Amino acid sequence: MLVIRSVAELVEWRQIQGPQCKVGFVPTMGALHAGHASLLSAARQGCDLVVLSIFVNPTQFGPNEDFEKYPRTLDADLALAQHEGVDVVFAPSPGDFYPPDFSTQIREIEVSSPLCGPFRPGHFQGVTTVVLKLLNLVRPSQAYFGLKDLQQFLVIKKMVEDLSVGVTIVGIPTLREPDGLAMSSRNLYLSPEDRALAPSLYKQLTAVRDEALANRPLGPSIDAAKTELTSQGFKIQYLEMRVVPSLTEASAPIDAHKYTYCVAAAVYLGKTRLIDNILFGKASEDMSWA
Ligand code: AMP
Repeated sequence: MLVIRSVAELVEWRQIQGPQCKVGFVPTMGALHAGHASLLSAARQGCDLVVLSIFVNPTQFGPNEDFEKYPRTLDADLALAQHEGVDVVFAPSPGDFYPPDFSTQIREIEVSSPLCGPFRPGHFQGVTTVVLKLLNLVRPSQAYFGLKDLQQFLVIKKMVEDLSVGVTIVGIPTLREPDGLAMSSRNLYLSPEDRALAPSLYKQLTAVRDEALANRPLGPSIDAAKTELTSQGFKIQYLEMRVVPSLTEASAPIDAHKYTYCVAAAVYLGKTRLIDNILFGKASEDMSWA
């Protein structure tokens, strides 16, 4: 396994592989867990070479977010990457990736507007800019993203379509702990008490989905889920049902045979921000929309 620490070295490596080489790419911020491993395993199965990037991207963090204290576990990450059969790990420094005169931003303006959009100004712009640069460097035929970050996945897919980037964006289902909590690098921040509470989020999202599928009105079931989570100590940023892939508002009656929906939420438990979502309806099983 090759570990590449600079943009120039990656460009050289990619040139040597030639245009026909089928590269699978998994971008991450490190602190790797089994969720990341499932992306790497899909890439390993579908491609000739697998490139993993590990880069805690400063431009997608807000001024009061956790950039400084985001977990950095490079040695363990390299061991996991080796175990998953990764060919190249690209782990640049921020100064090399963004030279001092860097002055371009990529902004998708529709899919990035709802849900996390208003709560994390500039976040998706940071994500689309870093991902487009990474795609230009790695030139993969397939890039793999987790549906855990559903809005991120949809924003990237839209950017790739709008800008004719020429890469297939593959969505991988959310990997969960046995108690239902979606795996996340940020789960490391949870106190033992908050970790015990955290699976309630998935439970409430499931309850909202089940009510929707039973054709009950959306408002009361969403309110009930919010009330229950709030009473347990969660601080809710949003808990909503939306149509996928546009993320436009879902209105009753839903039509799960015709459309795909998500129930998505962002909450705080203590100082830890958790996001999760459940996909359901037409294409949630076969992923044909992905
Ligand atoms: P991150 O390192 O958190 O930026 O995540 C890198 C990639 O792994 C993103 O595409 C995430 O959506 C994906 N990912 C993170 N957690 C999970 C999970 N529990 N299941 C599946 N994919 C995940």
